[in-house]
Amino acid sequence: MDRMKRTPISEQDPKVRATNFEEVCLGYTEEEAMAEAARCLNCKKPLCVTQCPVTIGIPEFIQHVKNGEFEEAAKTIAKSSALPAVCGRVCPQEVQCEGKCVLGIKGEAVAIGKLERFVADWSREHNIDLSAVEDKKGKKVAVVGSGPAGLTCAGDLAKKGYDVTIFEALHEAGGVLVYGIPEFRLPKDTVVKHEIENVKKLGVKIETNVIVGRTVTIDQLLEEEGFDAIFVGSGAGLPKFMGIPGENANGVFSANEFLTRNNLMKAFKEGYSTPIRVGNKVAVVGGGNVAMDAARTALRLGAEVHIVYRRSESELPARVEEVHHAKEEGVIFDLLTNPVEILTDEKGWVSGMKCVRMELGEPDASGRRKPVEVEGSEFTLDVDTVIMSLGTSPNPLIPATTKGLEINKRKCIIAEEETGLTSREKVYAGGDAVTGAATVILAMGAGKKAATAIDEFLSK
Ligand SMILES: Cc1cc2nc3c(=O)[nH]c(=O)nc-3n(C[C@H](O)[C@H](O)[C@H](O)COP(=O)(O)OP(=O)(O)OC[C@H]3O[C@@H](n4cnc5c(N)ncnc54)[C@H](O)[C@@H]3O)c2cc1C
Repeated sequence: MDRMKRTPISEQDPKVRATNFEEVCLGYTEEEAMAEAARCLNCKKPLCVTQCPVTIGIPEFIQHVKNGEFEEAAKTIAKSSALPAVCGRVCPQEVQCEGKCVLGIKGEAVAIGKLERFVADWSREHNIDLSAVEDKKGKKVAVVGSGPAGLTCAGDLAKKGYDVTIFEALHEAGGVLVYGIPEFRLPKDTVVKHEIENVKKLGVKIETNVIVGRTVTIDQLLEEEGFDAIFVGSGAGLPKFMGIPGENANGVFSANEFLTRNNLMKAFKEGYSTPIRVGNKVAVVGGGNVAMDAARTALRLGAEVHIVYRRSESELPARVEEVHHAKEEGVIFDLLTNPVEILTDEKGWVSGMKCVRMELGEPDASGRRKPVEVEGSEFTLDVDTVIMSLGTSPNPLIPATTKGLEINKRKCIIAEEETGLTSREKVYAGGDAVTGAATVILAMGAGKKAATAIDEFLSK
């Protein structure tokens, strides 16, 4: 065995997968997982763990995999994470745990994410019970939002014996895991639902179709409904737009709306009535993970898809793996290109997008080279659908309806980093609602820290 090289993992063929919504990566077999685990050096001071926002016992679970002790591996991960099958699939491991793997200095890092995914899938397929709950504390905590931050905070508090209720605005629990990240990266009915069921098994109640700030306010939950503390994990679901002419035309979507119609409302499946109109040629404006997801979804719905991004390939904010998969599947990258106007036909539908070419100048405040317009470079991209993927910010509803809950200039709730405590007593917050759009694992880390802080506060 070449210890420097990873055990290869099977994927669906790009040509086949570009026409379906089945998962791209097929996962390790037991033998492959054990072979990959055997590459781990089991370092005395494991740097991988220091890079994990929920501090999973990585070398410990990998040693169990190496020995074929898959149930023990699952129990090790469950001590720190309620969503391992999710994280094994969507975490940016290359800049976290795997980024610090010693093997990565001269060769390829251990495939920690793929091993985590293997263990979580094995544990699901073998019905391993991972719920261990302490004695009841007799205190009630409300959690707003059922994304990774809310689910983690709720699960940790339920394990400690609190009576926890999650209030979720949508009709299904999971946050971005169900409405944002597509099926071909994160299967909903198997993976996501199962991990939510595990949180419910700990005793967490989930009330869907409750918009906190409208159906009930935070003040009412505390003052009238008898909750002793609240965690706000309401995410950052408000899309940004460019403000260019034509952006209100028919056929212009925010990536959030486009992905929600597909993932949550199942517009891609026959037999579901939610409409989605994807023309023949789609432009996705933006270069992040969300843009890649929107582009690969539009491709699977049968369109020719262009990513339109104003910087060059090395500045693309999306994970390298996502860019690689998008290219393999046939997404076209129009880099150093910036839209200036969306053109419409006489009925108000998109008929093209006027763009200019860009070149990179001096670094800007973000440290990245600033894109500068090339004079006289205007041209029209022949597209009939435009998907704007320019980032999102938190919805202002909760701060606007809660006494004394402060937000910053970016509309994010202000909360202490170590505890999640906000400016309002008994109210904690974490995840995208506090940081702005970030990652699943950072949201989970924030949910965990807040659960510890809420427990300390309520134990006084
Ligand atoms: C398309 C897409 C792809 C992504 N891909 C990745 C990836 O590959 N890897 C990665 O690590 N991260 C990825 N992310 C980012 C990641 O999903 C988020 O950072 C993470 O989900 C944030 O978790 P959260 O719990 O803070 O919020 P969310 O997941 O947004 O959950 C918030 C929940 O709160 C609910 N809510 C909001 N307001 C209210 C209210 N007033 N009352 C009740 N409920 C409310 C929402 O409906 C939602 O269910 C992606 C994001 C998107 C949009």
